[in-house]
Order: sequence, then C-alpha cells, then structure tokens
Amino acid sequence: MKLLEERIRKDGLVKEGNVLKVDSFLNHQMDVALFSEMGQEFKRLFKDHKINKILTIEASGIGIACVVAQSFNVPVVFAKKAQSINLDGEVYTSKVESFTKKRVYDILVSKKYLGPEDHVLIIDDFLANGCAVLGLLDLINDAGATVEGVGIAIEKGFQQGGRLIRERGIHLESLAIVESMDASTGEITFREQ
Ligand code: 5GP
Repeated sequence: MKLLEERIRKDGLVKEGNVLKVDSFLNHQMDVALFSEMGQEFKRLFKDHKINKILTIEASGIGIACVVAQSFNVPVVFAKKAQSINLDGEVYTSKVESFTKKRVYDILVSKKYLGPEDHVLIIDDFLANGCAVLGLLDLINDAGATVEGVGIAIEKGFQQGGRLIRERGIHLESLAIVESMDASTGEITFREQ
C-alpha cells in the first residue's frame, strides 16, 4: 500500500535493534484517516472470506483493529496481556514473547467472546518474529474457531514471522513489507508486492 509506505518513509524512525518507530501516526499518535484507508484495503484483500470477528492483541493493535472492524461491520476482541493468570476455566490462554520488551507474558481471551462459530481475521500493527500472531492463532485453535486470515500493517520481511505464518497456509496480507532498514542512515527499502 503506497500510502503507508510513503508515510513510513516520511515519518518512520529506524532504531537500533531492528525497531521501527512509527509513534507519530500509528503507535502513539494515531492517524485515523490513514487507518480508515487501511481498513478499506484489508476489506478488499480479504473480500473472499466470510469474517465475523476481528482479533487483536493489546495495546497497539487495538486502534487499527477497531477501524478495520468498521469496514467489515463486525466486533473486535482484543487478547489481554496478563502477568499471571488464575486458571478458572473461563479463558483461553497462550504465551507470547515480546519483541520490543524482550519478556514472556500470558495472553488471554474470555470464552464468552471466542468460540467455534467464529471466523476470525487477526489484525496487528507489526509482524516481526511472529510470536504475537502465533499466540493469537493458539487462542483461535483452542476456541475451535476458524482463522480466515492475518492482516498486518507493517511486516519486517527480514524477520521470520511472515515465513512462519505463510508456511502454515494461512492467508497473510501485510500492507507494507520492510525489506531492509538501516539505523545509521535511516534508509528503509520495501518489498515490491
Ligand atoms: P512479533 O511477535 O511478531 O515478534 O512482534 C510483533 C509485536 O511486537 C507487535 O505487536 C508490535 O507491537 C511489536 N513490534 C515488533 N517489531 C516492532 C517494531 O519494529 N516497531 C514497533 N513499534 N513495534 C514492533
């Protein structure tokens, strides 16, 4: 999606440790008009799927997921992050290792909001090593729901997440795929799609 690539080139900051900062339009301040364009694009890319729920993970996926959900006219469920979980049988849980914070945490979704009747589109802001998406896929699997696809705003194509998800035969669409980025020059290149 050219609009997103241009915005990343203009406002994205490349940090040490393969981190791309996009706080001015996506991760802190949010450009809702841009999100709306992204929502329309996901709607077009997943038009052949019957989707009745969007699933994301707190916190940074929630804003995008809400706008995407509007274009599909379906509800959003976000997986909550927890330090420790009281396993009372009311939730589905999985573990995720944070790429940016380098620690493992539990994620959970109430059984009330995810079940066998659901056809789910996962939405997240970034795809790096794939831990967040794989954790969400675990929850969908445990719930007996169906994954219809994964929609990502920015995939870092030089990390393994995209490959791991595509290898599973899951329909993955990333609106911008960063092929390389250089913290010393700030240069960012994108994969042609
Ligand atoms: P993964 O689980 O695929 O390794 O990482 C995905 C999660 O880590 C995303 O939900 C996102 O919040 C965060 N993340 C990974 N890489 C980056 C990055 O380069 N920049 C920012 N802002 N967040 C990232």
